[in-house]
Amino acid sequence: MGLENLQHNFLTGTLEGMVKWARVSSSWAANFGLACCAIEMMAAGAANYDLARFGMEVFRASPRQADVMIVAGRVSQKMAPVLRQVYDQMMEPKWVISMGVCASTGGMFNNYALVQGVDQVVPVDVYAPGCPPGPETLIHAILTLHQKIRLGELTRRDGEGAGIRLAEPPQPL
Ligand code: SF4
Repeated sequence: MGLENLQHNFLTGTLEGMVKWARVSSSWAANFGLACCAIEMMAAGAANYDLARFGMEVFRASPRQADVMIVAGRVSQKMAPVLRQVYDQMMEPKWVISMGVCASTGGMFNNYALVQGVDQVVPVDVYAPGCPPGPETLIHAILTLHQKIRLGELTRRDGEGAGIRLAEPPQPL
C-alpha cells in the first residue's frame, strides 16, 4: 500500500468518545424481572425485537457482569433490600431503567406492601411508562439511556435519583 492511500485508512476521534461508544455498545442488563412487565422485557430480547442490534442481548445473572438494571415490575417492601444489594454489587458505571408504572410509582398497588417508586431505593436514569410497557417502549427507554450515556460525563454520574421520564407515569388509582 502506497503512502498516498493512507489518508483513506484512518479514523480519528477522542478517547472519551471511544469509551462512551464501547459502553453504549455493550450495556448488558442484570436480570431483575419482578412481575408481569418481565414478560415484555423477555419479548424485547427475543428474535422479533432483537436487542442484539444494540449490543444488549446478554442478560447477566451476576450483577458483577451487568451495567444496566432493568427493574421490570412491582417492587415489594421485602424485595427492596435485595434489589439495593444487587445494585450495590454492580460495578460503576451503572444505570437503572424503571420499567412500568408499578416500578415507577407503585401503579395500581397503592398499599403498604409495595414500594411506591423504585427511585426510593436506587437512583433511576430512565422511566419507561405503561402497564405493561411493550418491547417498543422498553427499546425507546434503552435508546434514551444510550443517548444519556453518550452525552453524559465520563467519570461522574448524574445526581442521585435524577432521571428522565419518557412521559409522566400515571398516578396510582
Ligand atoms: Fe404488571 Fe402492569 Fe405492574 Fe407491569 S405495570 S408489573 S404489567 S401490573
